[in-house]
Amino acid sequence: MIPIIKPTMDGAEAEAARRVILSGWVTQGPEVAAFETEFAAFTGAPHAAAVSNCTTALHLALLAAGVKPGDEVVTVSHSYIATANSVAYCGAIPVFVDIDPATYNIDPTLIEHAFSAKTSAILVVHQMGLPCDMAAVVDIAKARGLPLIEDAACASGSEIFWNGQWEKVGKVHGDVACFSFHPRKIMSTGDGGMLTTKHADWAARFKLLRQHGMSVPDTVRHGSAQVIFETHPVLGYNYRMTDIQAAVGREQLKRLPGIVARRRALAARYAELLGEAPWLGLVREPSYARTNWQSFCVRLPNSADQRTVMQAMLDAGVSTRRGIMCAHREDVYASQPLRMSLPESEAAQDHAIVLPLYPQMTDEDQQKVASTLIEATRSKSRAQDSNPGIRGEIWWRPRIGASLIESER
Ligand SMILES: *Cc1c(COP(=O)(O)O)cnc(C)c1O
Repeated sequence: MIPIIKPTMDGAEAEAARRVILSGWVTQGPEVAAFETEFAAFTGAPHAAAVSNCTTALHLALLAAGVKPGDEVVTVSHSYIATANSVAYCGAIPVFVDIDPATYNIDPTLIEHAFSAKTSAILVVHQMGLPCDMAAVVDIAKARGLPLIEDAACASGSEIFWNGQWEKVGKVHGDVACFSFHPRKIMSTGDGGMLTTKHADWAARFKLLRQHGMSVPDTVRHGSAQVIFETHPVLGYNYRMTDIQAAVGREQLKRLPGIVARRRALAARYAELLGEAPWLGLVREPSYARTNWQSFCVRLPNSADQRTVMQAMLDAGVSTRRGIMCAHREDVYASQPLRMSLPESEAAQDHAIVLPLYPQMTDEDQQKVASTLIEATRSKSRAQDSNPGIRGEIWWRPRIGASLIESER
């Protein structure tokens, strides 16, 4: 059986966890501080704060951005549900914008249509590791004076072309970026998250809120020769990362460049193998982005039934996942009126699948995945509505214009 992903961990991570367990300090202490310093150095960000997962990172980012109950946050529906949920945790409403089917990322040309007087932030996603068009989004956020939050859950090690050079996602091209270290992502601490920000006061706020809003960090109280009484000036949360997780994360961070390089090579091989099936739509990196290929997504012909293809591949021993979900189709958001229709988001969920990709994959594994996918879709290749696939910079253009359902402008 070829799984969708495998963590890349060995004795180095086990030894790091053991070292912490035997050290006598197991949560949010020196290892967390070291992991933050190293992650900030890796991304080039001035500040980093580790937390329990990316969802809590997003929650703290939105709070720091000043998102309040009743506000609206412009984001995508086509994402893991945690993106929308983090907005709801603030008592705010996620207002969904459609995606560009070429990148599965927010379509910057539609963002303006989602604004209202209540909009208080923009939350973009670097979906499946591919950076969204940050230059366009930053311009829109600046023009409107809105804070810009990056859901970089999948984008550790991805890069953006910025001011003439390649920079890591999280150097912070918006105000704050949020990362996930869940095992489905490409570096893992079991569970875990990280915020990087350009604002020193936001970083201080993350560190306050993650530890119950307590005025004095444990590390300071522990090291003090004076008795210190802590206070709790604001409502905080327990969003701590443990030192055991952080020690594992530090080992994973050392591996990250190698993991990204290997994934990029594997993705190039998939593109080669699947190139003989022009009815399959592949993602091509735009000129401004280098992805870490956290997920390798393939758009099936519209005439192919997604579940049937996935079942055929599973029967052949190849695990796949369907396209990224749409939050607006889940019961929890279904009653909320949409401000625009989301045809590309829905089509991506219904007609894309994600293929296995992990550093340990052999060329034989990849050939098996490719041949089972090609076999499972070949009969659809001549169908009237087969989509042209993504062979140039632009695919599926001209796009269906998003129809505005409601506008409060
Ligand atoms: C995985 C993921 C999250 C949630 O990350 P956790 O660490 O599991 O909380 C949020 N947003 C996106 C886009 C994700 O892929």
